[in-house]
Amino acid sequence: MRVASTKPLPSLQTRSRKELPNIPRPLHDLQRNTWLQLPAKQAQSALPQYPARTQEVGITLQRGGVWPTMEKGVSLERAIELALQYPLPKHTETITLDEARGRILASALVSKVDDPRFDNSAMDGFAVIASDCQSPGAELTIIGTSQTGGKTPPSITSGQACRIMTGAPLPTGADAIVMVEDTEVEGGQVTINGPARTGYIRRRAENLSIGQEALPAGTILSSASIALAGTMGHGEVEVIEKPRIAILSTGDELVQPGTELEPGQIYESNSHALASLVESMGCEAVRHESANDSMDELRTTLDSLSTYDAILTSGGVSMGEWDLVRRIMEEEGNISFWRMKLRPGGPPLFGTWKGTPLFGLPGNPVSSLVVFHVLVAPWVAKSLRYHEEMGPRLSHKVSVKLEEDVSGAPGKLCLRRIRIRPEEGQLLATTHTHQGSGNMHSMVAHNGLTLLPPDTDGEAGKVIDALWLL
Ligand code: AMP
Ligand code: MG
Repeated sequence: MRVASTKPLPSLQTRSRKELPNIPRPLHDLQRNTWLQLPAKQAQSALPQYPARTQEVGITLQRGGVWPTMEKGVSLERAIELALQYPLPKHTETITLDEARGRILASALVSKVDDPRFDNSAMDGFAVIASDCQSPGAELTIIGTSQTGGKTPPSITSGQACRIMTGAPLPTGADAIVMVEDTEVEGGQVTINGPARTGYIRRRAENLSIGQEALPAGTILSSASIALAGTMGHGEVEVIEKPRIAILSTGDELVQPGTELEPGQIYESNSHALASLVESMGCEAVRHESANDSMDELRTTLDSLSTYDAILTSGGVSMGEWDLVRRIMEEEGNISFWRMKLRPGGPPLFGTWKGTPLFGLPGNPVSSLVVFHVLVAPWVAKSLRYHEEMGPRLSHKVSVKLEEDVSGAPGKLCLRRIRIRPEEGQLLATTHTHQGSGNMHSMVAHNGLTLLPPDTDGEAGKVIDALWLL
């Protein structure tokens, strides 16, 4: 993660709140029905005539006179669909295995070799013919040694044994291995005191054959998958170039943790959480210093961030006078949707700023995290075509049994924080702290979110869908 260097924060007292009243409010501010306050005729003509895409259509007013449509109060599925109209760009690069941890495979990897390459021993011991070792105490003549990385071992015939190391090629004629612990050597003879097992032979290609695909595109390169890439003969891998995502918290009250607080100020935490989530999704996070609640400052900052692949803002998207991210996006950006049928996390918007996809996440700390989990993470994963099971992920969808009543939300998908724990073959869910969307402690005291459909309560004993957060 990188931190973009910017100007020092001015103190709260020096910030101007005067600019807002000088800018005319947009006529179309449907949430406050501003246009309805105009005389009836004027209000009518202020309404642009656009065909509605859904019944929930809203309209954005842009200074340049462009009036694109936006949707309001969308479902989570619709929000993801709309955001995917502006996916992250997918570029690839080739890197060495040493650089591969956490990167995402751009193309499937097929094996360049059989694995194992040849029949070999799984044990240190003796390669034998099983029928020679039926009765305990059989004596065999040692005719040589099969070593790893060595020459082709001698073939054996009945009555003979060949010393063998783990991983060394099986001599022709041998069909079983006796562990060294089950043998006694004297001179050129070996006495067999234990079983001769065919199961101690690792057969050629029993794991993978040449040309077999073992790592699909979109896989996150974990330590095991890096090792498998090596096993298959790949010293370099083609991965998705990390998209660069800028993160901008907004709010006059925000101060970086670790500094002194003046009256009315609070510590800024959202950008830190969002940066870590962005990185967990295989992208590069560039955390920008918080912007004040000022149209001019927002405009300048968003312009400077428009060179990134995407922008995440937090704060300023609700219905308040000072929710300027929403306002600047309405007036000067391009909004695809505003508000979602979600609780918590209702206010987000998505659109573009100078062509760059922008998620306006809520300021309330829990809401901004939750919306990342359910909206931004799937958008990243689908944009970059991550593998569903083997790609990076922040949560697993699971079924949990509620241990207490949990209320849903009218008309909204309800994401209550729950603590999930496995017990006797099932997952049980309880709540611990209060569920305020400003209570970040609740995101730590819990490890999951309910997926209660709109208008559905969850009674104790009921099995419901949930996200188990990783
Ligand atoms: P807003 O959406 O800007 O109205 O903010 C809603 C609430 O979240 C307010 O109480 C803010 O102080 C708080 N908040 C906004 N941004 C952040 C942030 N980056 N870190 C912590 N709290 C925040
Ligand atoms: Mg704010």
